[in-house]
Amino acid sequence: MVRSREWQLARRPHGWPEPDDFRLAEVDVREPGEGELLVRNLVMSVDPYMRGRMNDAPSYAAPYQLDQPMYGGAVGRVETSNVPGIEPGTVVRHGLGWREWAVVPGRQAEKVDPVADGVPVSAYLGVLGMPGLTAWVGTFDIAEVRPGETLFVSAASGAVGSIAGQLAKHAGLRVVGSAGTPEKVKTLYELGFDAAFDYHDGDVTALLQQAAPEGIDCYFENVGGTHLQAALNCMNPFGRIAACGMISAYNEAAPGPNNLAFVVGKKITIRGFIVSDHSHREPLFRKHVSGLLREGKLTFHETHREGIDNALGALLDVLRGGRHIGKMVVDLAD
Ligand code: NDP
Repeated sequence: MVRSREWQLARRPHGWPEPDDFRLAEVDVREPGEGELLVRNLVMSVDPYMRGRMNDAPSYAAPYQLDQPMYGGAVGRVETSNVPGIEPGTVVRHGLGWREWAVVPGRQAEKVDPVADGVPVSAYLGVLGMPGLTAWVGTFDIAEVRPGETLFVSAASGAVGSIAGQLAKHAGLRVVGSAGTPEKVKTLYELGFDAAFDYHDGDVTALLQQAAPEGIDCYFENVGGTHLQAALNCMNPFGRIAACGMISAYNEAAPGPNNLAFVVGKKITIRGFIVSDHSHREPLFRKHVSGLLREGKLTFHETHREGIDNALGALLDVLRGGRHIGKMVVDLAD
């Protein structure tokens, strides 16, 4: 019998999550049944959307249950297989993270091949995973970027933003990014952004006007609040906003933009999207992004935390900002 540690939701947070809202429990892992795999998780994901799952409210992502393990993206190695076609030793991506070991239904496990793809296993949680697909869909399908235009990306040094900005650069746009520390701003220039600013350095509209004197045509929205207000202020006629996330409002009430009337006069399109509705785009995304990676034309940063004990802190750091660049992942085993 394998023993495993897992994070459980002990209490639903109101506002910012507190340590007492969670519990790190040690449990027995049952034997896998017919059609199931026993997987040793190598790396797990922490993502902003997980905050929404802590609320008992209807949403596109089902709420976590109290006193039950939380879950999310993970990559692991199959130790025992009762699934034809999946041998022990196979590396699989699945949705039962937040634990060291998982019993995974075979149909929910996807084989991945880090050697063939020339990437670390963690890349399947980032650039080749859900955040990468989000960046790709948001940039091309939702914002419908066109060469010669200017795109503004908020939370630009993060898992989604850093890829969205680079994809738009490759598509021939001028790209402007905002982030929360000088180090992150430096990283944006290294990634090829044409202009970047730290949103703590003053009024966001003034900073954006300075970075994009001719205005913006597209906005990849990750933050909401004053960032959305600044984007509306600076948007050119017929601009498009890909509303991907509004992280400033996930733990506290964020100010709404006071200039929504620009949507009318500037004929702006705001379109929200959830990546899980766009899984049919996965093959094209994988082909495009794997190609860019092989050619050395796309850079992906990852911030790694060690061990299940540090998983909760990693998630809280993603929500607070300032402490990671690129995709935040938690390493659980070698
Ligand atoms: P990131 O790696 O970008 O981490 C989140 C970042 O948000 C933090 O590092 C922080 O960066 C920034 N942030 C937090 N609070 C604020 C604030 N009040 N004002 C400005 N910036 C803030 O996360 P992801 O790339 O995983 O996600 C980015 C966005 O995309 C999120 O809104 C997420 O919910 C959304 N998303 C949406 C999906 C969809 O299907 N629609 C799928 C995946 C993600 P800094 O230090 O720069 O402040």
